[in-house]
Amino acid sequence: MNKVRFAPSPTGYLHIGGLRTALYNYLFAKSNKAKFLLRIEDTDQTRHVKDADQQIIETLKTFGINFDEGPFYQSQRLEIYQKYVKQLIKEDKAYYCFCTKERLDEMRKKQISEKRIPKYDRHCLNLSKEKIEEKLKNKEPHVIRLRLPDNKDIIFKDKVYGEIKINSKDMDDQVLLKSDGYPTYHLAVVVDDHEMDVTHIIRGEEWLPSTPKHILLYQMFNWETPEFIHLPLLLNPDKSKLSKRQGDVAAEEFLNKGYLPEAILNYIAFLGWNPKTTKEIYSVEELIKDFDIAKINKAGAIFDIEKLNWFNAEYVRNIVKEKGERYQKLLAEAKKYFPLDLDQNKLENIFIVLSSRLNYLSELEESSKFIFELPNYDPQMLIFKKSDQEKTIKGLKLAQLFLTGIPEKDEPFWSEGPKLYQNLNEYLVDYFGEKIKENDLNPGDAFWPLRVALSGLDKSPSPAEILWILGKKESLNRINIALKKLDT
Ligand code: GLU
Repeated sequence: MNKVRFAPSPTGYLHIGGLRTALYNYLFAKSNKAKFLLRIEDTDQTRHVKDADQQIIETLKTFGINFDEGPFYQSQRLEIYQKYVKQLIKEDKAYYCFCTKERLDEMRKKQISEKRIPKYDRHCLNLSKEKIEEKLKNKEPHVIRLRLPDNKDIIFKDKVYGEIKINSKDMDDQVLLKSDGYPTYHLAVVVDDHEMDVTHIIRGEEWLPSTPKHILLYQMFNWETPEFIHLPLLLNPDKSKLSKRQGDVAAEEFLNKGYLPEAILNYIAFLGWNPKTTKEIYSVEELIKDFDIAKINKAGAIFDIEKLNWFNAEYVRNIVKEKGERYQKLLAEAKKYFPLDLDQNKLENIFIVLSSRLNYLSELEESSKFIFELPNYDPQMLIFKKSDQEKTIKGLKLAQLFLTGIPEKDEPFWSEGPKLYQNLNEYLVDYFGEKIKENDLNPGDAFWPLRVALSGLDKSPSPAEILWILGKKESLNRINIALKKLDT
C-alpha cells in the first residue's frame, strides 16, 4: 500500500509552505487510497520550540488535514538511528570523526581563501582502529560521517523536476550522527521513511539538493528508494523567496485574522498545481477528485495575498448566500468583533452588509466601528465635489423629511430582514430619487451627504444599507448632527 508523510520540524508556527506540503500529501493519500502519516522531526535540539508540535497538530486539525498514523517523534527513536549508523560503520560506509570545531573552522576558512568549495577533508578517515578505540574509550567528542564512494554518479528521477545527476566528488562526507547522539536530518529521514514504509516523498523544493545524499544512503542500506515529488518554491510577489519580511507566512496568523480554512486550502492548492481548467472554487472533496501529481508545476509559485483575499471573500459571500449551518457558525464568530451584544436580527443585518465587502473576518472590527459610534468628521466631507453647501443642506433636509415620513412600526423599509435589501435600495433610488428631481437637485446633492451623515466616513456601504442597519431613530439623529455641522 502506498504511504506518504508530512514531516515538519517543530521550530515554531506552521509556515504556509508547510501547510501546502501537508495538503498535497493529504490530497495524494485521499486520491490514491494511500496512508498518510505525521512525523515530528525534532532532532535539532538547538532549534526546538516548546509545544510547537502541538500547535502544528492543532493547526492541521483545524484545516481538516487528518493523518492515519502518528505523530511519531524522531527524538524517541534515537536507538534505531544509532543501530543503523553502526551498521554503516561496520560495512565501512561511515566513519568516526573527532575533529574539533576549531579545526573544522580553520579548514573551511582555508578552503574558501583558496576558492575551493568547502567540504570535509577526510582528516579522520584514516585513523587506525586502535586510535579510534582509544579515543572512544577516552570519551572524546565525535560525530559519524558518511563515507562517500569515489567518483560515483548518483542519478534519480524526481516526478516534478525530472532526472537529477550529481557526482559524489561534488558532495561532502555528510555528518550522520551528531556528537550528542542525535541523528542529522539526512540519516533520520532516510531511516524513518524506510522503516515507516513511505512510498512517496512529497516535500518542498528546498530539499531537492539533499536528495542525492538520501539516495546514496538508500543504496548503502540496500533499500528500495521511494518516489520523490518536490514542490516548487513559494515566492513573494517580487519573486524573492516567501518570507516573513513581506507579510504573514504562518498559517495560524491567517486563521487568527479570520480567514476561512477552506478558502486558504483552496487557494494554496493552486500554488504549484493546476487542474488545467478555469474552475477556481474547489472544495476539498473536489480537490481530492482532481488532484494529480502529474499536474504539479516546476516554476516557483507566487503567494499573492490579494488572490487569497479574493478566495476568502468569495467563500464568505457564498456562505452568506446559502444561509446554512456554516452561516450560523460564521455569525457566531463575527459577533466577537463587535463591541456590543447585539440581538440576532441586528447582528445579521450588520453582518450581511459588511460581509459583502470584507476580505477576512477580523476586518469587521474596523469596518463596523461607525455603526456603534459616529466618527467625528469634517463638515466639508458632506459636500459632494459637484455640489455646494446650500444644495447639500437642501438635500439633507429633503432626506430628513422623506425618512420621517416612512413610519417605523411594521414598515418593511426599516424592519425587514436581508431579503428586502434589494427592494430597499430600489425604493430609495426610486422614491427618494424622485423627490430629489422634483426639488431641482442632482442625486449627488442628497445621496452623497446622506451617506456621509449616516456613516461619518469617506467610504462606506450605501445609504440604503446603513439606514437599514441603523434604523429610523439613529438615522434621523445622524442627519440632524450633519445639519448642525453645516451650521444650520
Ligand atoms: N523536517 C523537514 C522540514 O521541516 C522535512 C523535510 C522532508 O520532508 O523530508 O521541512
